[in-house]
Formats: sequence, structure tokens, C-alpha cells
Amino acid sequence: CGIVGYVGPAAPSPRPLEVVLAGLGRLEYRGYDSAGVALVTPEGLVTAKRAGKLTNLLGELEAHPVADATAAIGHTRWATHGGPTDANAHPHVVGKIALIHNGIIENFAPLKAEMLADGATFASDTDTEVVAHLLERAFEGDLTAAMLAVVNRLEGAFTLLAVHEDIPDVVVGARRNSPLVVGLGEGENFMGSDVAAFISSTKRALELGQDQVVTITPTDVDVITFEGAPAQAREFTVDWDA
Ligand code: GLU
Repeated sequence: CGIVGYVGPAAPSPRPLEVVLAGLGRLEYRGYDSAGVALVTPEGLVTAKRAGKLTNLLGELEAHPVADATAAIGHTRWATHGGPTDANAHPHVVGKIALIHNGIIENFAPLKAEMLADGATFASDTDTEVVAHLLERAFEGDLTAAMLAVVNRLEGAFTLLAVHEDIPDVVVGARRNSPLVVGLGEGENFMGSDVAAFISSTKRALELGQDQVVTITPTDVDVITFEGAPAQAREFTVDWDA
């Protein structure tokens, strides 16, 4: 339902978590039944997720304080596949990859059957988790390449954001039939399901086209098509007050 992504300076800090939680707060107006975050920290991937309101997630984060991070993704879920439980909340983690998703993967059933036959075990009832398994299997050192391979197997509507435990300075996103906007900062970059996700940090944004994969680092934004060809994204200025 609501998506936020952030990558900032090389030194781990509290900012990635702060940005993502602020973004999720600004996306609350869309409605949701669960919320969660994943952080890339020097100690590895840290995730927290809870059914219910954002306050439940904040309580979980207070009970288990999170180390400083370099990148983060956050999600508010509106359940379509699997009830609103802690386990079905996003992010979904498989191996060293954490994934969040808005929308519906129409062909998740045959893909899930394929993953199960390949020995995968599932921790949730969501359509999303099958994508996390596909990503983990497709990953050969380049998260963008893995995302590109996987999105070409998916049908339906999706905005996807992924981070990898060993890649502290990258968030990769993809979109088809579902919105994703990039926010441009100074030495930091953002993604959101709409500009509300990052409006308190920057008003410079990039509008992505249909069927595109975007990779952000603290200093770069790289957009490609689902065919892997370079793509242009239109920059615009968000003209409402934070
Ligand atoms: N289909 C996914 C799920 O049920 C994502 C729902 C959403 O857009 O929040 O978990």
C-alpha cells in the first residue's frame, strides 16, 4: 500500500530509520493493516514488522532498538493475499535480501509451486514472498540484475523495493501498473509510492515510466527498462508544502 526507500551517506546513522518511519507516517492516509521496515546495518539486515497501526511497529522498535543503518525500506500493507498478521507483514526476507511490495502478483501460484519444488520454505501466505525467493535465487552479486531477471517473470501490478545485506549503499525498485517516484537529495536519495513519502526531505523528484527498474545510491539514480535498456526519467519539483 505505502512504500518508502532511503539510501544515505556511507557512515551508518539513525537517519535511514527516521526517514522511513516519517515517510510511513505521511502515507498513513492511504489506509493499511500492517507496517514494517528493513535496515541495512554493519551487523547485517535488521527487520521489524507488526500487524496493526504504526504504533505497534514503533513499540517493537523500542523494545528491540535498531543499530544505525546506511539504507532502509519501509512498508504499510493493505492485505490482498494472506490475512493481516505479523508474518504476512512486509518486508519479506529470504537469505540476505529484504523485499517490500505494493500490488498483486497475478501468477504467484505457479511461481510458488516452482519454488516449493525447488526446496523453498515459506514464512507467509503472501503473493509477495514468492518474489523474495525468486530474487534470492536470481542474485549473483548484482541486485539490479536480479530484479531485472525477476520482474520479467511476474504478471500483475507491482511496485517492488529490495535491499541486500552485503550491499550497504543500494536500494533497487521496480514498477508495473503501480506507482513509484524517486526523490533526489544531496548525498542521499529516496523512493516512495508517492511524493508524500519523502516530501519533508526533498522537493526534487523523478517520475518513472511504466515497466522500469531504478537503482539508487547516495549519489546516483539509474533507470532502465524491463528489457535492460537505459531509460530517461522526467525531473519535476513537488509544489506543495511539507
Ligand atoms: N499483495 C501484497 C500482500 O497482500 C501487497 C499488498 C499491498 O499492496 O499492500 O501482502
